[in-house]
Amino acid sequence: MLFGPPGAGKGTQAGAMVERFNLCHLSTGELLRSEIAAGTPLGLQAKALIEAGNLVPDSVVEGMIEDKFQSVKGVKGFLLDGFPRTLAQAEALDAILAKRGEQVTACVSIMIPDALIHERIAHRAQIEGRADDARPEVVENRIKTYHDKTEPLIAFYKKAGKYSEIDGVGTIEQVRERIFSAMDKF
Ligand code: ADP
Repeated sequence: MLFGPPGAGKGTQAGAMVERFNLCHLSTGELLRSEIAAGTPLGLQAKALIEAGNLVPDSVVEGMIEDKFQSVKGVKGFLLDGFPRTLAQAEALDAILAKRGEQVTACVSIMIPDALIHERIAHRAQIEGRADDARPEVVENRIKTYHDKTEPLIAFYKKAGKYSEIDGVGTIEQVRERIFSAMDKF
């Protein structure tokens, strides 16, 4: 899985990783945005939460991930991006994988300082036009949510011996090389 604060560059780096290791990229943020675009009941439920910078309920994202594990065939594994984001999701993921006789291989964490998060998201707002990137108070809430709810996962995966942290400050290519050498160790 790819771990890191909003704006760390997870989505940017995912493409090269899936290609190199023959993985299926699963981004819960992207899956939720396509539900919103399609106007499904799940999308309607998620929209207000996402646009306020809050997390959607654990059960929603856990269900989406489990469905994909079941339906996607012909890959060597999955690259999880933006999931898990809470301890409850991490525990649910372990249970879902255990039922399949599988387990998490590694948690590769891209770290950037909070100041750079603001800079990167402000830049992305101009390019991608995501509603949750546009308002500074929403970005602030996403960073706070990351520190409060998601950061505890670092200790969880460290304890499991699956955590590898890389410096996310640098060019896309530099960060990619750091990720590849981290992945090669697992
Ligand atoms: P970023 O990493 O830049 O915050 P994402 O596309 O990963 O962007 O997520 C966008 C939003 O989608 C999150 O702020 C959150 O509201 C929702 N979301 C994505 N993944 C999860 C998750 N695993 N659990 C709960 N909410 C999620």
